[in-house]
Amino acid sequence: MNKLLKVKCPQCSLAFLYYESIYRPFCSERCKQIDLGHWFQESYVVPVKGTPVVEDESDPEFNPDDDMESGNDEDNSDNDY
Ligand SMILES: [Zn+2]
Repeated sequence: MNKLLKVKCPQCSLAFLYYESIYRPFCSERCKQIDLGHWFQESYVVPVKGTPVVEDESDPEFNPDDDMESGNDEDNSDNDY
């Protein structure tokens, strides 16, 4: 009785006998391959989505102390004038 279980292929919606297909839950190898391709594409997309967005606005070379030193330099040149 179980052997006559009829299901719809999730890929092409074709009705087929579940236990007659070795590619179940798909009706054929082609549909199984198509579905696998979808999964590979999705697993490719997921890591890109999860990558945290790094903003480049802050300048790592900016240092307040350096800024003060350059200010002193300007003072020296002023004295020299
Ligand atoms: Zn199919």
